[in-house]
Amino acid sequence: MNSGPLILTCLIALSPPSTHAGIRAGAAEQEITPRAGLEIQHYFRKSIGVRDPLFARCLYLEDTTGNAVAIVGLDLIMASFETCDELRAEIREKCGVKNTLLNFSHTHASAALGPRGRSTVSNDEGSQWNDHTLDSIIAVVAKARKQAEPASLRAGRAKVQVGYNRRLTNTRNGQVFMGVNRMGPAVPWVNVLVADSLRTSKPLAVLFEHAAHPVIVPHTSKLTSADFPGAAGKRIREILGDDVITVFGQGCGGNINGFPLRSTHEKAEEAGRRLGEASLKAIQESRRITASLLTVKSTTVTLPSAPLPDRELLAEMMDLEKHNEDRMKQLRRIEHLLEEGKQPPGRRFDAHAVMLGREWCLTAMPHEMFCQYELWIDKHAPFRTTMTFAFTNGYEGYVAVDKALALGARGGYEAGRLPNWGGQVYSRHLGPPAVGAEKIVKRALSSLWPSETLPPK
Ligand SMILES: [Zn+2]
Repeated sequence: MNSGPLILTCLIALSPPSTHAGIRAGAAEQEITPRAGLEIQHYFRKSIGVRDPLFARCLYLEDTTGNAVAIVGLDLIMASFETCDELRAEIREKCGVKNTLLNFSHTHASAALGPRGRSTVSNDEGSQWNDHTLDSIIAVVAKARKQAEPASLRAGRAKVQVGYNRRLTNTRNGQVFMGVNRMGPAVPWVNVLVADSLRTSKPLAVLFEHAAHPVIVPHTSKLTSADFPGAAGKRIREILGDDVITVFGQGCGGNINGFPLRSTHEKAEEAGRRLGEASLKAIQESRRITASLLTVKSTTVTLPSAPLPDRELLAEMMDLEKHNEDRMKQLRRIEHLLEEGKQPPGRRFDAHAVMLGREWCLTAMPHEMFCQYELWIDKHAPFRTTMTFAFTNGYEGYVAVDKALALGARGGYEAGRLPNWGGQVYSRHLGPPAVGAEKIVKRALSSLWPSETLPPK
């Protein structure tokens, strides 16, 4: 090594920077709790009050070259691609933020978000809440951006599990059913990203992610709740201070249920407290990220739907279900497609990656992704630490792994197809994705990451 570059490095380090050369971060939140009387889901019921409030929260990150992302955590069950596309376009226009990730915590004691003027909650009050919530989300992104200040980032992970795999197999007939599968795959950790203000040396925001359905609050409760993610954020703030914005991101929790399922509000708070404690441990043990360039990449592919049943099976099913109007509606759709020689539409799959050098990557996907995808990303993404979101920027049901999709009719609620009525048969896709979806997902995800080898010269 010659001494030239070394001296140059020292000079740069000694001269005071005119502007901060690193990351800037800002965060904001706004309450979005629907008023009593509004319909909450899932299952649908009219709320009679509030157990704990729902929030829209945003962590905004930008670098000095103009790359930026708004990471939004919402205590809401879901929103369609149409809703997310429109909202992200509005954010782009009104806040000047090109990339927004809208993550839905999937709490089953909240409401779904619809497009402006076309709420999924049918009455007037519902559509008022809906449009007000859209405004609130835009406001938190604008505020987070406005407040952005020089910050340093650190990432960490700690062991925790607030739920279990929910797919069990009946050994007699091979049929998958819903239960508590303690041996099945799950994501046994929480990931955190902390943004510390360089001005105060204190954290201004904590982004934390865990993978499990927020379904500990019972579906019989008529009180609105953020379920365990709300309680986890509350615990983090008890220790770090109320002015720290805690943004929750739901991971690949499609096949994980919070435990104990549909029990009590107290149990949800207990689980949240545990998740909060683990997040605090992860924060304490977190490592500084030195990369100062933010890279945001996205790609869109289509996941084909499973093939339709043949005419013989369809005729059998139509005979069997002739008195069930809901089922007949789907069977007639299938009949129509078969007559036209068509296949059901595929699912849109958008993959996003927010990257800081090789030190950190947030991978985000739509839908209710199976946890195996998050485990795969963690193993294969070429970064020191990863964080993974599902339920982001759009929703069209479950995306299982190929092994589950290959079970066909025995695949259960998330992956089953006719002649068994899994949840996906009721969608416009008339069944789950086709076998092969897993490969398409993995290829889309890895196309966003830097390749392991240098490109040929
Ligand atoms: Zn779900």
